[in-house]
Amino acid sequence: MSANPDWYDSGLNHIWLPYTQMKTMRPPLAAVRTHGSRIVLADGRELVDGVGSWWTACHGYNNPHIAEKLRQQLDRMPHIMLGGLVHEPALRLAERLCALLPSHLTRVFFSDSGSVAVEVAMKMALQYHLNAGRSGRTKFVAFKGGYHGDTLGTMAVCDPEEGMHALFSGILNQHFIVDLPRDERSVADFDAAIAHHADEIAAIIVEPLVQGAGGMLFHDEQCLMHVRDVARRHHVLLIADEIFTGFGRTGPMFACDVCDVVPDIITLGKGLSGGSLPLAATVASSEIFASFWSDDPGLALMHGPTFMGNALACAAANASLDLFEEEPRLVQGAEAGKTMAHILGHALTLPGVVDVRVRGCIGVVELDRIEDLNSLKQAFIEEGVFVRPFRNIVYLTPALNIAQDELEKLCTAILTVLQRR
Ligand SMILES: *Cc1c(COP(=O)(O)O)cnc(C)c1O
Repeated sequence: MSANPDWYDSGLNHIWLPYTQMKTMRPPLAAVRTHGSRIVLADGRELVDGVGSWWTACHGYNNPHIAEKLRQQLDRMPHIMLGGLVHEPALRLAERLCALLPSHLTRVFFSDSGSVAVEVAMKMALQYHLNAGRSGRTKFVAFKGGYHGDTLGTMAVCDPEEGMHALFSGILNQHFIVDLPRDERSVADFDAAIAHHADEIAAIIVEPLVQGAGGMLFHDEQCLMHVRDVARRHHVLLIADEIFTGFGRTGPMFACDVCDVVPDIITLGKGLSGGSLPLAATVASSEIFASFWSDDPGLALMHGPTFMGNALACAAANASLDLFEEEPRLVQGAEAGKTMAHILGHALTLPGVVDVRVRGCIGVVELDRIEDLNSLKQAFIEEGVFVRPFRNIVYLTPALNIAQDELEKLCTAILTVLQRR
């Protein structure tokens, strides 16, 4: 590798990187440019990207339409606070999101990260009950394998066994973390837990169809519909966390679309701005909004991120929605899924591979275990691809419109690297 750029070594001593033991990490790659599904490194190498920057880059990088809309907005007004002021990008985006979502989801609260969008959803659910005079509904039901963010409130509804947050278990709020109701036993347990604790529960929170960061775990429509039915029966709200699954990742625009599961609150993030700027949204039903609508200022929702509804980010999200309208993005995502199923399917014969699964534009190869994650990551880089295995999972979440030859390169690299293990 040639010498690092001048900002690299000195700056690296001052940055704190995510999810990383910085003492033992391999030196991170210096990225200088992106285009399409490519990451260009400072030393001139170019990697095909299999991750889409934590699943955000649904149209690939540097999409010209998003870039153009960003440039126009940048000249007009990059940001203005949403307190006492509104602007076209945020209002247009709110209206467009509601038009895409089930008709009773009518109010959009913007924030700047998925974790905060989930925090806001939890706050809305808690206060919905309080505003209606029902105190005592202070707990959430969430599912093993689930991931909803890294802030203290959201950590408490993540799978407690998973590595990322286990350290903090003693200081987090206690909620009900149960198995997804997917077979006779877990259905019975789930039904019993909700029936028994209904008057303590504010909401059930679920990642519909695919639990992402918890292990790329899939469940079927029946399971999701059961969760919805039980929530409804016991007047418990349903929060669908579509931060990972939204914007075509599982096939349709939103995972809930496949089985007409209509949540009371939906959280969006990741792909929302087409991979360009931080933006998240919490969309609530008219019924929830109505419980805050009052002459009493004390019933208002007391939340307001400083950069909420950032005009640049909203302009990017509007441009991203243009692309979903004007280009066959969902069809492209489905085609990519077929390619992944076809090629990654061969991994089933490799030693240590316990499962290969594809849903929408998510391809997963599950191994019995990964001994040395760092070396595995390095092996992918040497194959010219950027793939980030975690725990015992190697996965692809490429741009929905990734070129066929690039996707083949990613899939083949996975086979090649796993073959050598
Ligand atoms: C990534 C993610 C979050 C958290 O989003 P951040 O923007 O990282 O805070 C929450 N829920 C799900 C399902 C996610 O995939």
